[in-house]
This record gives sequence, C-alpha cells and structure tokens, in this order.
Amino acid sequence: PPGEMPTRLRVILANPRGFCAGVERAIEIVERTIEIYGPPVYVRHEIVHNKHVVEALRSKGAVFVEELDEVPDGAMTIFSAHGVPQAVVKEAQGRGLPVIDATCPLVSKVHREGQNQARKGREVVMIGHAGHPEVEGTRGQIPGGVHLVSRVEDVDSLRVRDPDLVAYVTQTTLSVDDTRDVINALKARFPKIQGPDVKDICYATQNRQTAVRELAKRVDLLLVVGARNSSNSNRLAEIGTTMGVPSYLIDDASMVQDGWFQGVSVVGVTAGASAPERLVRDLVARIDAVAPATAETLQGVEEHMQFKLPRTLSDAMRERG
Ligand code: SF4
Repeated sequence: PPGEMPTRLRVILANPRGFCAGVERAIEIVERTIEIYGPPVYVRHEIVHNKHVVEALRSKGAVFVEELDEVPDGAMTIFSAHGVPQAVVKEAQGRGLPVIDATCPLVSKVHREGQNQARKGREVVMIGHAGHPEVEGTRGQIPGGVHLVSRVEDVDSLRVRDPDLVAYVTQTTLSVDDTRDVINALKARFPKIQGPDVKDICYATQNRQTAVRELAKRVDLLLVVGARNSSNSNRLAEIGTTMGVPSYLIDDASMVQDGWFQGVSVVGVTAGASAPERLVRDLVARIDAVAPATAETLQGVEEHMQFKLPRTLSDAMRERG
C-alpha cells in the first residue's frame, strides 16, 4: 500500500545532467590561474553556484570575495562565470588589477546582443530574475540599463519611451516554457520588438530541462542536486513539481530525508549545471542505503560543446610549455 517504505528502489539518472561547458571552463580557469601565478587568486563571487566547487578551489588557493574592494592591489583577479557589470570592469582597470574573465561565452554573447540593440536606439527588456548575478552583470553591460521582467504579468506594467523601439534579451538559465510565454506577451504588447526568441537560453539549460521532463514522466520522486542560488537547478526542480512529481532541490546527499521515499518505487536524479558528478554518485549511494537500488541512465542528447580558455591564460600556458 502507498505510504510504506520501499524494499527496493529503481533509480533513473537524467541525461544530460550536471556540468556544462561554461562551468567546466570557469573551474579550469581558476585551477590554471593558481598553477601559473601561484596562490592566492581572488575570485569575485562564487565562480559557479556550488559550495562544493567553491570549497575545493578554496583549498587550492582561491579566495572568494563579493566586491573588488576586498582584492589587494596587484592581486590576480577572476570574474565568475555569471559575468560582471561594466562598472566592475572599469573599477578593475582603474586599479590596474590583472583580471582573467571567466564569464561564460554564452553570457558574453547576451551582453553583446543587448549592447547592439542599445546602440541602435532600442530600449532593452531583460527577461530574468532580479538579484541573480548574471542579471546584474547583463544589466550593467547595456548602456542605458534594462527593464527587468520575470513573469508575463510584469510585461503589462512596462513603461517605455517608444513602443516601436524595444528589444529583449534573456538570462541564460530560465525555464524554456516560462520564457516563451513572456516573449509572446512582449510580442503582443510591442509588435515590433526585436529579440533572439528563446535562443539566449543556453544549450545546457535547454538540454537539462528536456531531459528532466522525460525523466519526470517515469518517476515517483525527483531529486535535483544543485544549490539554492543556482538558477538552472531551481528550474529543474520546478519542472518536476509542475509535472506533479514531488521534487526536491538538494545541495548533496546529506539533505535526503527517508520519509520522501514512502510509497516510492522509482527515483529520478538529475543535477544542475554547476553540480559535480561526484555528488550524484554520493546521492545514489544514499538512496541505496534507504533501500537496495539499481541505477540506470536515460537516453538523451550528447553534448559536445567546449569553450576555449581566455587568451591571457592559454598564452601563459604555452609560454610555460
Ligand atoms: Fe554558460 Fe549555460 Fe553553463 Fe551558464 S549554464 S555557464 S550560460 S553553458
């Protein structure tokens, strides 16, 4: 009967899940910078939103700060994968800080789109979540600033100078479905609005959302490994919830509660773009301790995306041989 603890469990892993190319690149940037220039290396903001990643890098010599005034003069400084406002770039230049920029190239692409639209005289609307560092970065990269909307209802209250001169960009890690609805509302209100459709949402966000939707059809419980402040991880858990599956966003296996497994026979597991695969393995072991579990991986798209390291770093690596 429902409600009883299971005697066996089937675990299905989403595919793809976990690290994206932007996160792998950002972590490699910190590691290489420490190798080449020696510790300490200062990182503005969590390099990616995962405390396990941050702790591992801290133990190698990274120092995480929120603002540049915490960085000593002359110290090697890295900008996180989420990007930074122009004001921060200027501040670093003004102080002559040596900077290596770990902003994901897909985030930089959104910055350029917004800048191009602003240059053409359009007011830019950003679809995104207030307070997220990517949103703060993008806002601060677009001359004249942006209007921020996160839900369809926000579109109604927008006030613009000229409804014929509006463009939009989006945060890279939003829900594909929610974004489509907001874009449709924008197009209804501003028929001449210019924008990239849902294409600012990055391949990794898109693929992980498609995978979790497939997974949620097959499971009684969904566990998403990812941090509270990780946008893309939150969206994965939301999709499970929307599909009627009890879904929990957890930092790691230590947050699992046995009660979640009452009446459950199939558990779905996925991980946000900043969550290391090791945490998924630990989670499967934790599930196996609830009841003996078999794990399988769902079919999914293969990802081949890879981003180059910043020039400063690849040049320095070549020099070292
Ligand atoms: Fe880049 Fe997408 Fe990964 Fe963000 S989630 S770091 S935009 S690849």
